[in-house]
Amino acid sequence: MPHSTPKFVILDRDGVINLDSDQFIKSPEEWIPIPGSLEAIAAMNEAGYRVVVASNQSGIGRGLFEMSALNAMHEKMYKALARLGGRVEAIFFCPHTAADECDCRKPKPGLIAQAAHRFGIDVRGVPIVGDSLRDLQAGVVYGCVPHLVRTGKGEATLAKGELPPGTRVHDDLMAFSRWLLQRDSAAKAAPASTDNCPPAQPGQPA
Ligand SMILES: [Mg+2]
Ligand SMILES: [Zn+2]
Repeated sequence: MPHSTPKFVILDRDGVINLDSDQFIKSPEEWIPIPGSLEAIAAMNEAGYRVVVASNQSGIGRGLFEMSALNAMHEKMYKALARLGGRVEAIFFCPHTAADECDCRKPKPGLIAQAAHRFGIDVRGVPIVGDSLRDLQAGVVYGCVPHLVRTGKGEATLAKGELPPGTRVHDDLMAFSRWLLQRDSAAKAAPASTDNCPPAQPGQPA
């Protein structure tokens, strides 16, 4: 049976949904959405996409903030999203530092595996959106399609190059969501021939 891609989108958090900082985002006060990012999530939801977040949060492992602060940041995000009619299904995060040698710190694919397992989906073909190379690397292990945004570390990532083959670049999450929804409506307008029986030809024998 051909694989049909589940309607999911996997997002990095810092630099994609909210403004990033080299000093880490340590509190809800520091968690500030990038303009248009929450609206983009709501628009994708509206089009039937379930959105999950996969985020390295080594600030926890480094002792820079507590789990309670992380929960408070996410509470802020959920509330702001809800005001726009949007939601994220789940947030998968890695609390470890590189020294922990865990299997979930991106570019390791553990967070993507967790998401696939939680929702019982095969993530092949699912878009993964990040501002760092390691976000994309974590996704392509399982066949996610890489999308780089220029927000956060995106410009620096783009300048370094060596992105996974097929990476698409978007100005920000809103630009990505517009691309995604346009792609879908184009596919609807011109369905792939394998998805449809050809119209019956009148007057021809069956
Ligand atoms: Mg990031
Ligand atoms: Zn980890």
